Amino acid sequence: MSSAVVTRFAPSPTGYLHIGGARTALFNWLYARRYGGRMMLRIEDTDRERSTQGAIDAILDGMSWLGLDWDGDVVYQFARAERHREVAQALLDSGNAYRCYATPDELAQMRETARAEGRPLRYDGRWRDRDPSDAPAGVAPAIRLRAPSEGETVVEDAVQGRVVWQNRDLDDLVLLRSDGNPTYMLAVVVDDHDMGVTQVIRGDDHLTNAARQSQIFSALGWEVPRMAHIPLIHGADGAKLSKRHGALGVDAYRDLGYLPAALRNYLVRLGWSHGDQEVFSTEEMVAAFDLKAIGRSPARFDFAKLENLNGLYIRGASDAALVSAIEQVVPSIGAERGLSAPLPPALREKLTAAMPGLKERAKTLVELIDSAYYLYAARPLALDAKAAALLTDETKARLGAVIAELEALETWDAASTEGAVRAFAEANGLKLGLVAQPLRAALTGRTTSPPVFDVLAVLGREESLSRLRDQVGQG
Ligand code: GLU
Repeated sequence: MSSAVVTRFAPSPTGYLHIGGARTALFNWLYARRYGGRMMLRIEDTDRERSTQGAIDAILDGMSWLGLDWDGDVVYQFARAERHREVAQALLDSGNAYRCYATPDELAQMRETARAEGRPLRYDGRWRDRDPSDAPAGVAPAIRLRAPSEGETVVEDAVQGRVVWQNRDLDDLVLLRSDGNPTYMLAVVVDDHDMGVTQVIRGDDHLTNAARQSQIFSALGWEVPRMAHIPLIHGADGAKLSKRHGALGVDAYRDLGYLPAALRNYLVRLGWSHGDQEVFSTEEMVAAFDLKAIGRSPARFDFAKLENLNGLYIRGASDAALVSAIEQVVPSIGAERGLSAPLPPALREKLTAAMPGLKERAKTLVELIDSAYYLYAARPLALDAKAAALLTDETKARLGAVIAELEALETWDAASTEGAVRAFAEANGLKLGLVAQPLRAALTGRTTSPPVFDVLAVLGREESLSRLRDQVGQG
């Protein structure tokens, strides 16, 4: 295959960029990259009532966040309506389309009859061969395709295989409505042609449209792009994907603390496989991606798998990259934790220093932020219930004595604080944990944290001692 490959992602901006759309975008992106081609982005905003600028922004943001860039300018379908009308006119001129004056009442009647007879609704072609001079005065016509009435329409689909429709089952579809607005079916064909699209990759809910669109391409004498219709994503229970299953906007995944690289990796395996490989760098995905390895049955969305993969990417990320990733989600999830972006330089530094310990346990950035609570908690710390229960009169008295030992230290680091605490425990015949646990509770407000001496080192002398004094009432 040559560098002539052109794919496109063509979302309708009627909602957020949901997870299925993101996967479609990714597959188009990978295929174009794999063959040294281009991926275009077309916003299908012809439904003026349901398309919103907010949705367009969410789609563009979501793609940027996922690292899926497109080639050239974004194409807005509605802005091309004049071109679509021009093509409809050309089809009229060539006899491949005709004017239809059927009234809404007639069409409703046709629908009724079809339903009564248990047939699928088909336009009965009543204006197909009628003399144009029969046209009723003052009625604006719709323009319909003069579709072939015999033979077959065949789509050789890279995923679905050879799919055949009997032309007698496909009626003469509307290209231009009586109000002069192009239909979706016409717009897609004209745009795909004008954008030089060679390979369509989209959800298999568009498979029947592929037959319709092939007929329009043929009527225009244009080459039909190659097709690949990918099975939709289902929930873990096999039912159609719903919000409950993870049919959220890509922005929601960002706010749940997923890394774009992890989500990309997760999405590529939703319906596509490469041996039993689960983890792919972007380069590996690009090198391995192909349409042949897309399965025909719906992929199942599995949150646990996404989490595990995200944990893997978190552990593999550099400390600095994780601090930046945290900073990026702080505007949406930081406020309730008392954080705002940009993070104060001192906190950035502490986060970076603590990251090697923190990232071992976190599966999401949210967990990472929460486990770093002790680094940004405001004094006096709000203790969680378990930590509060650890601080009894007895353990507080013990901490009071430890404070005196720590105050005496000349150097303050993990080793020196550990030495002091161990010596204290031994001198008092206590197991280390009986001192370390209340220390952790007072310093972090939690009962789990990175090793407590690392916490002391990262917080530094002043902050550590102040937090301990707060809890033992020496403030
Ligand atoms: N705009 C359509 C959608 O969002 C996609 C059309 C296409 O890919 O041909 O479902």
